[in-house]
This record gives sequence, structure tokens and C-alpha cells, in this order.
Amino acid sequence: MRNQHAGEPFTTTDEEIETLLLDVSIPTLMLSLVHMSGDPELIRGRLKPAGLLINEVQGFMSEEDKAEVRALALDVIRDYRDRGCPEPGPISAELMKEMMDWLVCEDVPGEYVPMVMEEMELDGADARRVDGPSDDAAREAFPVVVIGCGESGLLAGIRLEEAGIPYTIIEKNAGVGGTWWENSYPGARVDIANHFYCYSFEPSDHWTEFFAQQPELQAYFERVMTKHGVEPHVRWETEVLGADWDDASATWSVRLRAGDGSESTIVARALISAVGQLNRPNIPDFPGMDTFEGPWFHSARWDHSVDLTGKRVALVGAGASGFQIAPTIAPDVEHLTVFQRTAQWMFPNENYHGKVGPGVPWAVRHLPFYGRWYRFLLFWAVCDTGLHAARIDPDYDGGNRAISEMNEATRQWFTDWIVGQLGDDPELVAKVVPDYPPTGKRTLQDNGSWLGALVLPNVELVTDPIDHIEPDAVVTVAGTRHEVDIIVYATGFLATRALFPMAITGRDGTDLRAMWGERPAAYLGITVPGFPNLFCMYGPGTNLVHGGSLIFHSECQMRYITQCIEALIDGGHRTMEPRQDRYDDWHERSQREMRGLVWSQPSIKHSFFKNAYGEIHGLSPWRLVDYWSWTRTLDPADFVID
Ligand code: NAP
Repeated sequence: MRNQHAGEPFTTTDEEIETLLLDVSIPTLMLSLVHMSGDPELIRGRLKPAGLLINEVQGFMSEEDKAEVRALALDVIRDYRDRGCPEPGPISAELMKEMMDWLVCEDVPGEYVPMVMEEMELDGADARRVDGPSDDAAREAFPVVVIGCGESGLLAGIRLEEAGIPYTIIEKNAGVGGTWWENSYPGARVDIANHFYCYSFEPSDHWTEFFAQQPELQAYFERVMTKHGVEPHVRWETEVLGADWDDASATWSVRLRAGDGSESTIVARALISAVGQLNRPNIPDFPGMDTFEGPWFHSARWDHSVDLTGKRVALVGAGASGFQIAPTIAPDVEHLTVFQRTAQWMFPNENYHGKVGPGVPWAVRHLPFYGRWYRFLLFWAVCDTGLHAARIDPDYDGGNRAISEMNEATRQWFTDWIVGQLGDDPELVAKVVPDYPPTGKRTLQDNGSWLGALVLPNVELVTDPIDHIEPDAVVTVAGTRHEVDIIVYATGFLATRALFPMAITGRDGTDLRAMWGERPAAYLGITVPGFPNLFCMYGPGTNLVHGGSLIFHSECQMRYITQCIEALIDGGHRTMEPRQDRYDDWHERSQREMRGLVWSQPSIKHSFFKNAYGEIHGLSPWRLVDYWSWTRTLDPADFVID
């Protein structure tokens, strides 16, 4: 069978190819040419990328060089097409490494190569799939319940389906997608490049934007769910209230409430939480909020029945959601008042709203391994470099400006980006340049639309804190009344309350959230002592702000979880839970790492990462390559297995 990444044969005409090549990443194209022709000399000459930077997919090549490559490519592609698009032959490990290094303009360290090879799936095999136990009866006797059908819950369903393990997914919403179902606010889009922000085992030839908007993402999850036959296993509009462990039967009794209010339970041998960290809105409690007479809602509960046209709107919050909402609604509203508590660092990305030209899907679909190399190019630019840059240099005296020399250079770069847009407005510059080290909160992608919105005549940025709400106004501490018709709270989520508001009771009646308090933890972010056969996806200590993609992390976690379940079934075991010392050691080490990273810097007063003590338990302080290798193969010695 033809390798699914080798490209579908095509008969595209020369003229069409010429036009399509105008859209593609030229360095990526050159690697595909090597596959088509079998000639590595194509990448050993003068024409090559000059450097790597996030979101720069042309390797800084000049227009002349790119044109030269396109002309050369036409010959190679024509020849390949005229030969009937044969499946390319295998490539030696040495040449693969040469191609990797060539594309990203640096030596890809040896420890990363197996992870990259797996991520790219050039051999057409999905190494993250676990085939599951072979004993049908044993499998059938091991029902699994998954909480949530967002990105990670859907993945759990796909993997359990492949492994033949019976499962039910409980989803509180009426459809798939989790955060991509709930966040339908105007302007919602992903800020990780989509040809990487998608499942590794699914095609990526369909994205219409490089950073897709919410409807396209939700439709993607819908399609994937249907393709993998997961939908019949989902109970929609049903909320998990909690789950109780019963030691005698070694089962979880999962308490449910359906949309009609009726309550029931479902019994599982293993429970997978896939509830994410960003699904319970954080609604501030400003005095007088309830007296407001107009419509008000949270960004993740957008009320589409409310027409904003010609209205005076207050937008509270200038985080990732506010950043996207303001530019989208500003042209339609009469007046927009943005209330910003903390300024945000933003990352220049001129292609943030860019449309994918027809050449990209064509290349991904037809040119051998183009899509896989493109994925690697995007992946490598965000693979662990952000973590390296986030490390606080103890010998660097940057005060609250910067945590290292590199961080100071980033400050300069980001500041130039802001000042370059607002140079003639020092008052606004003072409001929007953050007073804490860059990347200390989640850095936002920006193509100029945020500041472009703030300078519109009908938009005002207010940095004076909100004091209270009146029936027709937001009033700040300085006493200024901002009269508005509608209030939108883009105030984020209760991210530090892991698994909130579910009540999970483990062995000996221990309540999980009470045990965690402000310090949630799980071994590898996945398992917790005293809570047998409970597995978390996107659990404590696994949120990524240093790069990568949560889908990558989910795939690591689900491979590991499937191995755990397989080990339970194959071994005829009742339970597994991590050893207390492994858990304690993991948490202690994670916290030690975290204290040395920029997000812990004390000048960052408000961040959804920090708990009441200023500690961070939700984020991962680890390199992707480490997390990948730690979760690659289950080590039973880490567990107490009964
Ligand atoms: P967020 O980043 O936590 O931002 C919330 C905003 O509300 C901040 O400006 C915050 O100010 C402000 N705020 C919160 N409570 C407040 C209060 N009591 N008074 C005044 N202001 C208050 O939340 P988000 O924008 O919803 O984003 C959350 C996360 O979701 C992101 O970090 C990201 O992981 C994800 N997300 C991603 C995308 C994307 O992919 N493009 C888009 C949206 C969200 P402070 O900064 O002072 O706390």
C-alpha cells in the first residue's frame, strides 16, 4: 500500500503547477523534490534557507532565489508527474538527518531525531497508536469513561477505538471541540500554526487559513470524530458531577447530570479526565455587576442573539481573547471601551490572518512528504527554544525588565514592534508596553490588528482599574463613568482549579480537589496516588506556554494512558496508581524547574498561571523531547499495581 504521505498522483498541467508553486514554502518544496527525484544534490548547492524563525516558512530566501527554485522545481515535478508519480524510494538515515538540518539551518541534536521522525511519520506508520490487548473478553470487561470531548477527549476516543477497548465519552456541550466549541466569540482563532496544530495522523491539506478561525477548527474536530467512528460513543449535553472509587469492585462510579436535569451513574474500570484547563469562565465580582441593565456575558459564552451594531460596548480584559475580540467588533460598534488591567507582550506575526493559497493544499496533497516536512518546519521553530529563552539567568540584573540578556533583546524586539506602530502616541505607548519581562505571560500573536483597533476614533483603552458597575456604566477607581450598553467579560478561566467543579473521591474517600488544594499535581501530569485507574489528559503541569502544541502533548499522554490500560487488561490486574515517591519527586522537581522560569518572575502580578501563593502548578517546565521520552513507554516500576 502506498505511503499515505507520499502524495496522491496528479495530472496537473505545467501552467497550473507554475501558479500553484507561488504559494508554497520553498525550502519545504526543495525537500519534496529530493524525494521525487532521489537526487540529494538538489539541496547541496547555493540555493538553501538562511535561517529559522517562528512563522517564517521561506527561510529568509530572496525573491530571486525562490524564483530560481520554482523554475527548477517545475522540471522535477513535471518529470515526476510524467513518470506517473511513483512512490518515492526510501531515504537513508544519514540523508534524512541532512535534510532535517538543512531545512531548519541547524544541527538537530541526536536526542530529538527519533521524536521528530515519529512526529513526521515519514514511514507512514502511526507509532503513537497502541493496538491494545488481544483478549476480547478481557477488553470487554474493562469499560472506560472519558470526561470531555474536546481535542484530548476525542483523541482518547480514537485511541480506545483503535485498541478495541469499550468506552463512553461524556460531554457537557452539544457538540465536539471543547474550547473550540465554546469559544465562538468574534475573531476567535488559533495562534499555533494549523499545519502543526492538528493530529499527527490526520491529513492537513484542508486548512483555509494558516491560523484557522473557530468554525473551521470545530468543523475539523467534527470531521475527525466522524471518520474515526467516535460519535456513537458520546453522550452529549451530559455533565460529569463527580466520580467515586469503589475498592471492592475496583470501579469508578461516575455521576452524571443530563441536559434535562436527570441524574444517573455509569460504572467504569478506568476514568480518563479530558476536561482541559480552560473551560470554566472566570467572571469577576465587581460590585453592582448584577444591576447592569444591558446584556452582559463572558467571552466563552458569547450571546450571539445580541447585536453589537451601533452599540456602546465595554470589553473587560485584554488577554488572548480580548486581543482577538476588540479588532473584530470595533468596526461595527458605536463605541468600544477596552478595560485593560495588565498590558500584554505580543509577538509580530504578519501572516496571522493570512489565507492559505491553493498551492499549499495542492502541495500537501500531492507532493511527496511536503506536508510532513512543512509540519516539521513549524514544529521545530517552537520546539524547546522558548523554554531555553524562558530560563531566568541568576547572574543577570534586569530588575523587572528582563530575566536574561536574551530576554532583554526580546524586550527590545517586541517594544520596537509596538512603538513602530504607535510612535506618534507616547501616551498610548505607555499604556500598552508591559512593565514585566517579555514572555512572562502567554505571549500573543499580533499582525498589527490589536494596536490598529486601539487607535480607531471610536475605541478607548482604559487602564484605570474598574471600581464598580452601575446599571448603565462601568465606573473606574478614578470615578470616571463609562456609559455602555453591553459588557463583554473576556476575563479568562479558572485555570488553577484543576478538574473544577467535579468532585472526585478516591481510595478511602479522599476528595481530589481538597487533597490538591492550591497545588494540583499528577505524575507526568497524568496519574495521582490514591486515585487508582484515573488518568488525566492536559492535567496539572502539562499546559504549554513555551512552545509546541497541546495536541502533541495529548498524543504523548494518550499513548501512555493506552499502554497503562493495556497493561491492566493484559496482566489481569485490578488497579494501578503511581508510587507516592515518584509523584512527590515529580512534583518537587517540576516546582524547582518552574521557579527558575520567566512565568514565576514576581513582577508578574496577575496571571492565570499563578495560584494564591504565586506558585505555578498548571504549566509544564519541561522540554518537549523529555516529556515525549518519559511518556513513550510505560514503566510499570513507577506504579503500585494490584
Ligand atoms: P486571560 O489570558 O486570562 O485574559 C484575561 C484578561 O482579563 C486579562 O487581561 C486579565 O487581566 C483580565 N482580567 C481577569 N480578571 C480581571 C478582573 N477581575 N479585573 C480586570 N481584568 C481582569 O484569558 P483569555 O484571554 O480568555 O485567554 C486564556 C487562555 O486561553 C490563553 O492564555 C490561551 O491559552 C487560550 N486562548 C488562546 C487563544 C488562541 O489560540 N489564539 C485565544 C484565546 C484564548 P490580567 O492580565 O491583569 O490578569
